[in-house]
Amino acid sequence: MTSDDFHIVIVGGGVAALEATLALRDVTGPRPRITLIAPDEHFVYRPMTVREPFAYAAACRYELADIARDLGVDLLRDRFGWVDAERRVAHTEGGEAIAYDALLLAVGTRLYQRFPRAVTIDDRCMDELLHGLIQDVEGGYARRLAFVAPARMAWPLPLYELALMTSARAYDMGVEVSITIATPEDSPLAIFGLGASQAVARLLDDAGIETIPNAYVEVPQSRELVVNPGAHRLEFDRIVALPELMGPSIRGLPAGEHGFIRVSPYGQVRGVGGVYAAGDATDFPVKHGGIAAQQADTAAASIAALAGAPIEAKPFHPTIRGVLLTGQRPRYLTAQITGGHGFSSEITEEPTWSPATKIAARYLAPYLDERDRAAAGAAR
Ligand SMILES: Cc1cc2nc3c(=O)[nH]c(=O)nc-3n(C[C@H](O)[C@H](O)[C@H](O)COP(=O)(O)OP(=O)(O)OC[C@H]3O[C@@H](n4cnc5c(N)ncnc54)[C@H](O)[C@@H]3O)c2cc1C
Repeated sequence: MTSDDFHIVIVGGGVAALEATLALRDVTGPRPRITLIAPDEHFVYRPMTVREPFAYAAACRYELADIARDLGVDLLRDRFGWVDAERRVAHTEGGEAIAYDALLLAVGTRLYQRFPRAVTIDDRCMDELLHGLIQDVEGGYARRLAFVAPARMAWPLPLYELALMTSARAYDMGVEVSITIATPEDSPLAIFGLGASQAVARLLDDAGIETIPNAYVEVPQSRELVVNPGAHRLEFDRIVALPELMGPSIRGLPAGEHGFIRVSPYGQVRGVGGVYAAGDATDFPVKHGGIAAQQADTAAASIAALAGAPIEAKPFHPTIRGVLLTGQRPRYLTAQITGGHGFSSEITEEPTWSPATKIAARYLAPYLDERDRAAAGAAR
């Protein structure tokens, strides 16, 4: 249905880029040419990195070249540099100029260490950052821990998962710890709506974890936390912080707040023809893999319609799904989101979506599930 000449360039090698590629192949078939630009050798399953400091296996990694071959797309191992939107040319840092009919930017965020005196989570080296801390908890050397988030919340789940898993590990080792979470949210995991948030609050309470909501913190010393409003000073043995997320500030596009890319509900970059964006890089306030995937599906449908496929572009109506690791049984959370807030909230002990993966993505989740099964079969 689509023209052979139509060229789609997708930038990134993460959730949004791969989900969009799979969605486009499903809707448009093998015909339109797709080029994927990414510097990475692997797609890493980021949510599972929270388990690494607890001596579980490393998060799964999938070779991008393998995926590109499988999906019939050209992979260019390079970094995207800037876009000449008028001429419809994407420029790479390696000096390539690539003409496109549709460009999808799925470049994620830049991590910024908001509290230099705290240990800031970075999923590229989670084990290295936190393994020693967990050993100190196990040995009884670190007894008072704080897990804090900056004023602009990054991804919602890892802060709570690390706190709960640390508490469970201390319990298993028979060590007493006191754990505090300080968050700017109105209540724990507020994005998942009232019902789920209240259930998570009970879970934290049962684990003996204190939560300070509506907290705007500073970390003046490595062991000192100041909680605002009120300038309350609290002492801890260790303070672990989420990073602040900054947008990619793409040269050639209108600048959005904090560098995030401003998109329409159809995934189109506002005011720029032929350019789309999806995932953490956009100005949608919730940064989450499942949301990135839904944005990618929306943008893919808009691009497919532009390419002439018989599909109607539809606006983005997000549903947030999350698996909360607790160190014991996981919990499955679901909510519709509007204006950055959750409603019709649900929390269950059994999965309500399939495959029940951490990143709930229409195409990517079953695709990776199939790859995992094939790899497990081959290893037997
Ligand atoms: C510890 C942790 C736990 C999480 N837990 C969950 C969870 O349980 N569930 C969930 O749904 N989400 C979770 N998330 C969030 C989720 O991982 C992100 O929301 C998701 O990865 C965003 O996908 P993305 O494709 O927008 O960006 P990314 O995954 O960041 O991918 C961006 C891609 O763009 C590439 N790139 C960057 N710059 C350039 C450039 N100039 N040129 C070319 N390529 C470039 C990068 O190399 C990367 O491949 C978690 C995140 C972390 C860190």
